[in-house]
Amino acid sequence: MKYSVIKQTACAIAFSVLMLLTFYLIFSVSATMPEIAPISAVTQHVYVKNSEGNQTVGQTKSIINDDTEHAVSIHYPITGITEIDRVIEHEVYRKIEQFENKKTGYQAFGPEGSSSIWIDYESYIKGGTVSVVFYTKENFSALARPLEYVDTFVFAIDSGEQLSLDHILKADDLPILAELTKMQFAENPDVSNRMDTELFFNGTAPTKQNYQHFALKEEGFTVYFNKYQMLPGYYGIQSVTIPYDSLDGHLNMDLSNTILEAVQTAALPKGELTEPQPSMIDKQKPMVALTFDDGPHYTVTPRILDILQENNARATFFVLGNRVDSFPNIIQREYSEGHEIGSHSFSHPQIKELTSDEIKYQFSETEHRIQQYVPYTTELVRPPYGEITQSLKDVIQKTFVLWSIDTQDWKTRDQDAIVSEVLNHVEDGDIILMHDMYSTTADACEELIPALIGQGYQLVTVSELLSAKEITPVAGSVYSRVLSTESVLS
Ligand code: ZN
Repeated sequence: MKYSVIKQTACAIAFSVLMLLTFYLIFSVSATMPEIAPISAVTQHVYVKNSEGNQTVGQTKSIINDDTEHAVSIHYPITGITEIDRVIEHEVYRKIEQFENKKTGYQAFGPEGSSSIWIDYESYIKGGTVSVVFYTKENFSALARPLEYVDTFVFAIDSGEQLSLDHILKADDLPILAELTKMQFAENPDVSNRMDTELFFNGTAPTKQNYQHFALKEEGFTVYFNKYQMLPGYYGIQSVTIPYDSLDGHLNMDLSNTILEAVQTAALPKGELTEPQPSMIDKQKPMVALTFDDGPHYTVTPRILDILQENNARATFFVLGNRVDSFPNIIQREYSEGHEIGSHSFSHPQIKELTSDEIKYQFSETEHRIQQYVPYTTELVRPPYGEITQSLKDVIQKTFVLWSIDTQDWKTRDQDAIVSEVLNHVEDGDIILMHDMYSTTADACEELIPALIGQGYQLVTVSELLSAKEITPVAGSVYSRVLSTESVLS
C-alpha cells in the first residue's frame, strides 16, 4: 500500500485503525516482536549528524530477535516528523509481514528451516529533503541464495510529503537522467563491458519503474538498480550518483535551499565526562560478569545503569554502533560509571553473510561512533548471534566474548524466568547474557543484582573478570566462562 500525506481526520482515523490492525496481525504472527515506543518519547526534531561526511537522520530504532534459527535484525530512522515516521514504520512492518508470509510459504514445502531478515538503512539530507535508503536481506534455508534488494523513500521535510521522481525531475526529462546514468556506468570498468546486453538496455531504459529507487545526497542524485535489473545477479545492487550540475535545468526543486539549518543540531551535546573510578575487587571471592547486548535503549539502559549504581556493581555493554549516535549520553554514562563497552557490530548482521570488508566496516564504524563521545577503545567483541567465523577472526584482532549463562530474556520476556535461570545456574566466573532492550530485563535486574550480591558474588566487567583470574586476553581468543586459562575455548 502506498500513500503520501494524510490530511483529513477521517483518513487519519482509518489509518490509525489500519495501523493497529497491522500491528495486531504482526504480533499474533510473531509474538517476539518488541513493542514500538511512542515516537514523541524518542525525539522531537529531525537532525543531522556529520561524522566524516556520513549523514545520519534522526534516531535509529531497532527490532532484534536474537534467535539464530530465525534471526531478525531491523534498523530504521525516526525523524520526529510524524508524517515521515508513519510512512517509514508502516513500510518496516509491511516488510516484516511480507517476510513472515514468505517464511510460512517456504515451510509449506518442507520441514521447518532457518530464516533471517536483516534491514539496514542509510539516510541523507539535501536542500529540505530527507532520503532513506533501505537494504533488505532475507534468507531462507529453502533458497540457495539470500534475497537482497534496495528501496528508497524521499520526503519533503517541511510538509512530510513523500516525493516521487515526478516531484524531483521535470516531466519529459527522464531520458536525460537515463543518458547521464549510462555515462556514469560507462566509466565503471566492471559494468562498461556489459552495457551492450539486452538486460542492461531494458533495465536502464527511461521508464519510471527503472528509476524509482533514488536518493538526494549532498554530492548528487543517486539512482539504485536492484539485483538482476540490468546486470546478472552476482553484480548485486548497483548505484550511480549524478552531480547536480549535470542535472541543471532538469529538476523541479531547488535543492540548494537551506531549510535544514532550521532543524539541524550540528553537534550533539557532549555531557560532562567523569573519569571512571577503579573498582575494588577481591580476587579470592567469587565474581560474575553481567553482559547486555543490542543497546543502548532510551529507557531500559538508564534503568539498568541506575540499578547497577545503587548496588555498586559493574557490567559490560555490547553496543550496536548504529544506536550510539542516538543515545550518546547513555554511552557517556556507561563509560563514566566504570562499565565496560564492547562492540556488538554496527547493525547486527549475520557475520557469515558478510565479506571481509563488510565485517571490517561493522566494527571500525562502531568504534568510530563510540569514540566521538568517549575517550575509549573497545577491547571486546561479541558478534551478533554469537557467530564467530574464521573470517571474523582474520579481520578483527580483538578478544571475543560469548557467555556461559543464556537468560533467554529476549525470548521469554519474563522477569521470574530470567532471575531463576541465573540463580539456578550461577557459578564463579560466569558470563551472563542479557539484552538492554526489554523492560522485563530491567525488571529482572532489580531482583537479580541484589540477589547475586547477597550470595557473595562481585559483579565485574568482563575485562575485570579476565584480569582477576590472571588471564591476559589474546586477540582471537574466545571466552565464555572465566575460571583460569582453561576457559579459553579456542
Ligand atoms: Zn544481539
